[in-house]
Amino acid sequence: MANHREDHATIDLMTTGNAPYVARDLAHVWHPCTQMKDHEQNVPLIPIRRGQGVWLEDYSGRRYLDAISSWWVNLFGHAYPRIIAALREQVDKLEQVILAGFTHEPVIELSEALVAIAPEGLTRCFYADNGSAAVEVAVKMSFHYWRNVGRSAKRRFITLSNSYHGETLGALAVGNVELYKEIYQPLLMDVITVPSPDCYEREAGESWAEHSRRKFAHMEATLARHAHEVAAVIVEPLVQCAGTMRMYDPVYLELLRDACNRYEVHLIADEIAVGFGRTGTMFACEQAHIRPDFMCLSKGLTAGYLPLSAVMTTEAVYAAFYDEYEKLNAFLHSHSFTGNPLACAVARACLGIFREDNVLERNRALAAHMGARARELEEHPHVAEVRQRGMIVAIELVRDKATRAPYAWQERRGLVIYRHAIERGVLLRPVGNVVYFMPPYVITPDEIDLMVEVAREGIELATCG
Ligand SMILES: *Cc1c(COP(=O)(O)O)cnc(C)c1O
Repeated sequence: MANHREDHATIDLMTTGNAPYVARDLAHVWHPCTQMKDHEQNVPLIPIRRGQGVWLEDYSGRRYLDAISSWWVNLFGHAYPRIIAALREQVDKLEQVILAGFTHEPVIELSEALVAIAPEGLTRCFYADNGSAAVEVAVKMSFHYWRNVGRSAKRRFITLSNSYHGETLGALAVGNVELYKEIYQPLLMDVITVPSPDCYEREAGESWAEHSRRKFAHMEATLARHAHEVAAVIVEPLVQCAGTMRMYDPVYLELLRDACNRYEVHLIADEIAVGFGRTGTMFACEQAHIRPDFMCLSKGLTAGYLPLSAVMTTEAVYAAFYDEYEKLNAFLHSHSFTGNPLACAVARACLGIFREDNVLERNRALAAHMGARARELEEHPHVAEVRQRGMIVAIELVRDKATRAPYAWQERRGLVIYRHAIERGVLLRPVGNVVYFMPPYVITPDEIDLMVEVAREGIELATCG
């Protein structure tokens, strides 16, 4: 750190190992969620040749601490021996088979294991291969359920403002992040949007629980008015991750579960980002002691090793589709790689690690350390809030701390932090003006210190002018 100058010189030299890959990539690869022109100047493209634990290594030998778990998917670091062993073992037996009419041990065992740890009553598992597809499945299943039970007027969905549920058209429609959604609006189904219980917006002196409870009035009123035409309410339990890691109190979920029962509306819990220990419990819903009607899982489901997703649901939902073939009540939805054996074998191994290694217990100490270090930034003149839920910590930057006036998005303050962190060997990827940490669970306290220190430097740089 003392040799900041020298560091820069070294980087320039070292990155020459990356150069050939960057040139070849930019000739043909169109990257996700990227303005490709940014790679000319603003954003370096970094080719990664290997990963080990929390570290990624590029072709010049530079290492980057993966503070965002490779886009929120990785749980136990890269190249984790037990996961690799599980994958090796399965690949020698069976790499893929059609799941219609056929089955295999990994998908059976994974389903048993998921049912055993999910909120009680979620006994049926439907598989897809990414998070958005799981959301599509839940949305279609809920709609189709109401049709099968003779209530086909129930075909709309209620969503929260600032929510995110993926990028395919159905998932995009039930989400609410402007940046991703606005352009495609003409293609999307019409949903009912209710104000988020986001506790960043709480009044001075108001507790998280009070705020979330107060915000529930909007949901209650909307359900009272629209329940007859609503199939389901979809939420990200506790943390709206893509919506800049905004958080709310579990009481909201308790109230929502109760209201969905009263109004006969399904509750879809999108635990794609928050599931598998991210918020401190295995599933975020547990903190509200509720069982959703549909629970969408992906990302950490395979510890971030292979694409897989699951929608878990109840016997009641399952039963509404179980009928004579001629009734045409079956759920005729499929993806080529539904229940892929390799992905299921890895997911099964991942759940084994949770069981055997007391992961949630160990994470408590890590989360406490990460939160304590991050909260040291609360005093910073451009930090409005440091918030945390388990293994997710977010730092909200503002132009004016007193009024909480945000920085204009065009200023791209987060990009300054991203670039600084990359130079210092940490992969941070702020969303808007929010810097966050969502590291793999194998991070050490020293690595947490490094991650927070680099974020602090980045914040200094990004807010000094
Ligand atoms: C990432 C995410 C999705 C979409 O998953 P993909 O695999 O990227 O399609 C859906 N919902 C939430 C809450 C997510 O964070």
